[in-house]
Order: sequence, then C-alpha cells, then structure tokens
Amino acid sequence: MSVVERQEWDVVVIGAGGAGLRAAIEARERGARTAVICKSLFGKAHTVMAEGGIAAAMANANEHDNWQVHFRDTMRGGKFLNQWRMAELHAQEAPQRVWELETWGALFDRTKDGRISQRNFGGHEYPRLAHVGDRTGLELIRTLQQKIVSLQQEDKKETGEYESRLKVFQECTVTRILKDERGRVSGVFAYERETGRFFVIQAPSVVIATGGIGKSFKVTSNSWEYTGDGHALALLAGAPLLNMEFVQFHPTGMVWPPSVKGILVTESVRGDGGVLRNSEGKRFMFDYIPDVFKEKYAQSEEEGDRWYEDPDNNRRPPELLPRDEVARAINSEVKAGRGSPHGGVFLDVSTRMPADVIRRRLPSMYHQFKELADVDITAEAMEVGPTCHYVMGGIAVDSESAAARGVPGLYAAGEVAGGMHGSNRLGGNSLSDLLVFGRRAGWHAAEYAAAQAFERPEVSDMQIDTAAAEALRPFSAEGPTGSEDDGPRPPENPYTLHQELQQAMNDLVGIIRREGEMEQALEKLADLRVRARRAGVEGHRQFNPGWHLALDLRNMLLVSECVARAALERTESRGGHTREDHPTMDRKWRNINLLCHLADPTGGLAATDPERGQINLVRETTDPVRQDLLALFDKEELVKYLAEEELYQ
Ligand code: FAD
Repeated sequence: MSVVERQEWDVVVIGAGGAGLRAAIEARERGARTAVICKSLFGKAHTVMAEGGIAAAMANANEHDNWQVHFRDTMRGGKFLNQWRMAELHAQEAPQRVWELETWGALFDRTKDGRISQRNFGGHEYPRLAHVGDRTGLELIRTLQQKIVSLQQEDKKETGEYESRLKVFQECTVTRILKDERGRVSGVFAYERETGRFFVIQAPSVVIATGGIGKSFKVTSNSWEYTGDGHALALLAGAPLLNMEFVQFHPTGMVWPPSVKGILVTESVRGDGGVLRNSEGKRFMFDYIPDVFKEKYAQSEEEGDRWYEDPDNNRRPPELLPRDEVARAINSEVKAGRGSPHGGVFLDVSTRMPADVIRRRLPSMYHQFKELADVDITAEAMEVGPTCHYVMGGIAVDSESAAARGVPGLYAAGEVAGGMHGSNRLGGNSLSDLLVFGRRAGWHAAEYAAAQAFERPEVSDMQIDTAAAEALRPFSAEGPTGSEDDGPRPPENPYTLHQELQQAMNDLVGIIRREGEMEQALEKLADLRVRARRAGVEGHRQFNPGWHLALDLRNMLLVSECVARAALERTESRGGHTREDHPTMDRKWRNINLLCHLADPTGGLAATDPERGQINLVRETTDPVRQDLLALFDKEELVKYLAEEELYQ
C-alpha cells in the first residue's frame, strides 16, 4: 500500500483558468473551504491568452443591444443546437459578471463618455465585446487572482492563516476523480509535477474547469496542458460527454514559420476592419455567405466598409460571419489554389488603418508577427489559416447548477462543459460563459458540500492504490515481445505516440470530414491505444515531462475517440462539424444530442481490451425550446433550423 498524503476540503476546483477561479471565489464566498489545483503555474491558463474580449449585452456601444439579441446571436451561431436555457442564462447574466469584474478592479478600455468600450466580433449583431486592447484575458485573470488574494487576506485576519479557506495547489495534475461506494464524489487523486509526489484531496464536491482538448490535433492554438484531462476525468467517473463532434477551427492562425503554426491571430483584427484576400487580391468572403445569413451580411465591399461607420444603415461585412463559415471559406480558397505562399490566405489591416491605430488597438498582434515571423502588420498583410481552437462538446451538465449528469458532487464549467455553444461558439462568448457558469458551479458545489456535512463521503485505501498503480505504470512498461532472436523490444515512446495521434486527428477528423477517413481514424486510435499501454519512460518521478505525457495520452485517446465516433455518427454538416459526404445542415438532426459514455461503467480501463472501442454512443432528443424564446426569431428563420415535428408543435 502506498503512503499518500490526504487533505480534507469542502470543494476542489480542478483548473485555475477563468472558470476555475470564478468557481473558487464563489464557493469560498458561500462558506466552503475551497482548494484549487492547476497543472501549470497559477495564472497561466488559456484564459490569460484570450485576446478579443468578453461578450456581454451592456449596450454601451449600441443602445439597441440587450440580452434577447445576444441570446439570438448565440443560438444562430450554434445553429440551434445550444442547450437553450444555458444560452438564455448566459445572455442575461453576462453584463452583471463584467460589471462585477470592474468592481473587483478590472480596467477595461473606455468609450469617449467613460463607459466600458465594446468592440465588434463575428456573429454578434452589435459591438458587444468588453476588452482591454487585445489582452483581455490577462486582465480577467489578474482581477480574479487579485480577488482571491483579497479573500485570503480576510481569512488571515479571521483565522491567522492565509490559506485556511482558499488554497491554490499549482503545478499539480489530477489523474482520477474518486467516488465512494454510493457513487458520490469523494475527492481527487493528483501528483505534483516537480517532485512526482502523489496526494489526495478528500471533498464532497469537485468542479472540473480544465479547458480544452486542442493538443490532440497537430495544428492548434492551444498550449501544452490542453490534453482533454477534464473531459476524460468526467468520463472515467461515469459522467457522459455531449456532442463531442463539434470542434472549432478558428479561421485565423499563423501559418508561417512552421514553429509557430497554429498560434492564434485574434478575430479583433477582422472586428476592427481587417479584410481577407486570396492570392489574386480578391476579398473572397463575399462568395461564401450561406443562405441562412444572406439577409444579415453586406453583398458588396462598399456596403461592408460603410458598416464600420454607420452600422444602423448598412449590413456587416462577411469577414465577420461566424468562425465555422470563415474557416471553411479559407480552406476552400487554399484548396482551389488561390492561397498564400505558405498555405493560408492574406489578412490585411495595413491598408485599412493608420499604423499608430494598429499598434494601439492590436499591440499583441503587432509584436507577435514582428517577433515570430518578422512581419510588420502595419505595412504588410499577415498569412493566416485555420487552427484547432476550441471544443464546443463537453461534459453534459444541468443548465442551472452546472452539475455533471449522473455523478452526485461533480460539477463542470468553462470550455470543458458542453451544451452552451451548440455546434459553434461565437468569439467572446467563452469568457462570458466561464464567468457565468463558473459562478454557478461554485455556488452549487458549495451548497452540495454543505448538505453532505454529516455524511461526508470517504476515500478508500484501495482506490488510492489503484490510482497510484495506474500513474506509475509507465515506469515499468515493457515493449511488445519480439522474436526469440531479438528479445523484448523497448517500450513505446510517448512523444512518438502523441505525434501520430495529432497527425491522425488533423488529417482524418479535421476541418473537413469524410466517412472513410473517420473509420480509418478509429482504427488508428485502436492501434494507438494498444501501444499506449506499453508507453514507457526512463528516470524518476522528479520533473519528468515524458512521464506526464504518458499519463496525458490516456485522456487524449479517450477524447479523440469521442470526437471521431460522434463525427462519424452525425451525418450532416453543422457548425464546427463539416462532412464532405453530407455537406448541408439537416433539420432532422436539429434536436439530436450525441452522448458519449465510457463502455466500462466501473471506470476501469486496464480490464478492458484496448483494441476495442472504449466509448458507447447514445442518441438523445433535446428539450423543445421555450415558446417565448422562439418568439424572438422570425418564423421564416425558424423554418430553416427547426425539425419538422418542432415546427408543428
Ligand atoms: P482554461 O483557462 O483553459 O484553464 C484550464 C485550467 O485547467 C488551467 O489552469 C490548466 O492548468 C488546468 N488543468 C488542465 N488539466 C488539468 C489537470 N489534469 N489537473 C489540474 N489542472 C488541470 N475566448 C473568448 O471569449 N474571447 C477571446 O478573446 C478569446 N481568445 C482566445 C485566444 C487564445 C489564444 C486561446 C487559446 C483561446 C481564446 N479564447 C477566447 C477561448 C478562451 O480563452 C478559453 O476557451 C477559455 O479561457 C477557457 O477557460 P477555462 O477557464 O474553461 O479553462
């Protein structure tokens, strides 16, 4: 039996991005002793990289904006597959969450009359993104961290200890969520990255806020820690994942030089007037406005350009269509041989804005291109192409409480939770999502934990031993048996397996999908699963990135199988899921959710044959959208989206 340190808290939050920190603040303010665990340094999460802004209908830049318009835009962006109650709560509560940030010290850019400035973004009818230049996420995280420090100072005054009620465990990775014999959450098993030491935090409530899955794809804007851990932890704990086929490929990532391929070029570049051109100099987006959006977008360059000055009397340019549309258009231009020298298209602000305005409004982009690609964006166009950016699919949650389905005590918020964005997320809606639902998750997790006060779930030694053995397996892994002459072969290298996985997902389940290729992907995943069981590492547990990756592979393989299976099942194109063999949106699929469950309900992977799929897919009909919300749309528009039976109702 291993000796593993145990600590007792009320709520454990996994992840210290915006969702995790907002949840932790809420839980602590509601009286729960709260522990936050994060894989990287405190303050380094995707949230900090968010550039464009937080979408909230505050009506500062256009008085016609309100939560109903924001709700409508979000549903249109998600092609009506959004969990509509989440989209409603999100649109209603986002402004309060932004104002609250300001009271906690956030310094947003201002309008001339001193209100929080709001900028345009794709799919949003009005300028709606509260921002701080193109470093909004940095200010958001700084503010939430500052709030945490102020709460810790209060605790010091009352209890004599800063970390008595709110403590951050940084550079620690959770590998398992633990449950008691009644199926309730009882805590988490984690290791410290620096020392390799294992520890357990016992708690009745766990909030998963681990962000995205981008590292399963080769070209991605995501950084190293986004290996789908939270998605996999939930699956292994018995909670289903929802609509995992919907992966967002952001239209504008850097394409050159190769070492920075995939790094994000913020949508604010287009929101502030940047235009997309092909190698012939043509503003090609006018050729790609889909029927459902025809009436809302400018049909000529002149009208599109007039919109920046007079949005009430002109329609917006098609560069500001939702991301899925723009990404597909760029992909088509490159495929047709009209791409830029390095396989993207041109994104130009240099001919649209004076150099000093570019440097002021887009400082990070200016430096990013100057330093990484030696391109001066005030004088020349950028080369850009699609990059895997965000996952709309995620843990199936209750809209009000953020409770994960089927596992008492488990909650999820932020990018790791599914449903809110339907088949495609609008830019800016992630930062608002994580504030709105981070708060809700922290609130309900704290209430649930308080309700368990007299019957706290226990963690058994056996569970800890099993989790420890699983984490240690890469140190004793053996390669496949060779022939008698060559003896046993060395274990598999986790880096090689990771590269093969990323290549397969990029090539076979990427931006444009085909049945045969997805079947090939599933075969490749089966092969990788078998080999990943033999992934081995040398050395010891002190800071050993090869070991960490070997553990992350389990998560990436599970999540990739969910994406591939669901993508194969959904025989239509919608939002972030494009099938070349089923190129149109099919109303029959409008009210169908695909749920991924772990095939082995005990949560064990070791016992199952890795060659066999580990995921069962279940179809589920969605709840009908409430009548008063449907009334926000024109009937003609609803006809384009809703399934036949829904229209009759
Ligand atoms: P994250 O901020 O991703 O944080 C996840 C946390 O979980 C991290 O602390 C990580 O270390 C931790 N973690 C992961 N696995 C484990 C584990 N096993 N154990 C312990 N901890 C773990 N959205 C917008 O709305 N507007 C924008 O302008 C915008 N710009 C973006 C720019 C870039 C470059 C990127 C990559 C994304 C952008 N997004 C934007 C998307 C948005 O930033 C993310 O979707 C959002 O920040 C996710 O927040 P989160 O709190 O869910 O998770």
